[in-house]
Formats: sequence, C-alpha cells, structure tokens
Amino acid sequence: MIKYRLICNESHEFEGWFRGSDEYDAQASNGHLSCPVCASTAVSKAVMAPNVATSRGVAPMPRQAPGPDRQREIFAALRKLRSEVEARSTYVGERFAEEARKIHFGEAEERVVHGEATMDEVHALSEDGVPVMPLPRLPKDLN
Ligand SMILES: [Zn+2]
Repeated sequence: MIKYRLICNESHEFEGWFRGSDEYDAQASNGHLSCPVCASTAVSKAVMAPNVATSRGVAPMPRQAPGPDRQREIFAALRKLRSEVEARSTYVGERFAEEARKIHFGEAEERVVHGEATMDEVHALSEDGVPVMPLPRLPKDLN
C-alpha cells in the first residue's frame, strides 16, 4: 500500500491509500477521487509521501506503560462496572456455578447472580452456553 497526500482545488488536504501508483493514476483519471471536505474531484497529489504499511496494518503498541493517571482511570471504570453489577445482582457466593446453570436451564428463578467461581467452573459454564462474565479483581489501595 502507498499513501499519498492529496489536495483538491479548494486546498483541502487529505490522505489516500492505494495499492500502487497505477491504482492512483487510474482512479484520478476516472474522476473516482474526491475531496472528503467539499467532494471536489479536482484532486491531485500534494506532496508525494510514499509510506509502506506494515503487512498487517497494525499500529505499533505504545512503548510506555500507561501512566498512573491512565491506570487510575481504568481502575475507576472497572470498579464502577463491578459495583453496578453487584448492585443489580444477587450474591450467591460459592454456589455461583450451580445457581447460574439452574437459572439458565429454567430450574431457578430468573435473576442476575454473582459469586465465586473457579476458572474451570467458568469454562464449563461457557461450554454449556451459560452467559458468564468474570468480574475484575481490583487492588483496593489504588485510589
Ligand atoms: Zn476540498
């Protein structure tokens, strides 16, 4: 893939990706290129800036770990999610897997439950088609 910076006759600059310069030429001469701002088809290359994409088109991961502020935000969001789930559902403790399965198969009153389960139990529930969502465990001292 090649990236071209394009510019229309109203001086709007934008970027376009093409398989190669041939594809660009074909689209440009057929009037298939248009400005995303004003829809003008009078488009030409601004500065040729070929930029070979990585094979999978995946952006590189940030090299730095999220800063403390970002981490606090993530924890706050997870804590909120957790407390919302806990507020709306019944705590069934160690009987979670059993209760979840009963509810799913209509053998117990339909309600949302949360409780303790091992990873094996969670996997077994998922295999039986019981919708389960692991709740994040959070450090308590980060606030
Ligand atoms: Zn334009």
